[in-house]
Amino acid sequence: MKKIIVASNNDHKIKEIKQILKDIDVEVKSLKDCNIDIDVVEDGKTFIENSYKKAKEIYEYVKKDGLNDFLIMADDSGLEVDYLNGEPGVYSARYAGEHGNNKKNNEKLLEKLKGVPSEERKAAFVCAIVLIDETGKTVKVEERAYGVIKEELTGVEGFGYDPLFFVPEFNKTFAEMTADEKNSISHRGKALEVIKKELKNLI
Ligand code: IMP
Repeated sequence: MKKIIVASNNDHKIKEIKQILKDIDVEVKSLKDCNIDIDVVEDGKTFIENSYKKAKEIYEYVKKDGLNDFLIMADDSGLEVDYLNGEPGVYSARYAGEHGNNKKNNEKLLEKLKGVPSEERKAAFVCAIVLIDETGKTVKVEERAYGVIKEELTGVEGFGYDPLFFVPEFNKTFAEMTADEKNSISHRGKALEVIKKELKNLI
């Protein structure tokens, strides 16, 4: 069975990816699972630039190692808030300074939107995914999920900005949804559905 090496060690992400690709005949592995210790600097200006850089560097590394039957998948994602001209964007993980501090990132976002009425709090989660197969064939996908930034944190599921991302059609934030609900409309869910179709031609 082919291995998809996902360029991430984020357990939440790996879990979401496994869930969405569960009916495809591939083994989803994190970098940790494959003992790959490589730190790619995410200095791109767009989500696609960052995900391509990650996928390409890991592809070169794995290729040099002589591994067979693999594909590399890298994603980069984040939140774009209209009122903030697309902030936090590619800086979503380190919006408040410290990488991955969800609590501080959410606090900063709430502070920046203090007093802004709900009709001006529109936002989109963006997910770019790049897939490279063993031969170097590359597929790039970018998808969005649309919502509104709430005035307080609601819900305990998911991660990151999920408790602030309210989806009117569901009358819930991402953090109040089940994994299946979130995956059915999320940026990553949509991008992975496209990747899943591409994968069927590559495995
Ligand atoms: P990454 O660089 O793709 O790992 O993600 C960047 C940041 O975007 C994460 O640390 C989160 O703050 C945010 N983010 C991306 N996807 C999601 C999501 O599905 N829910 C909540 N936050 C997310």
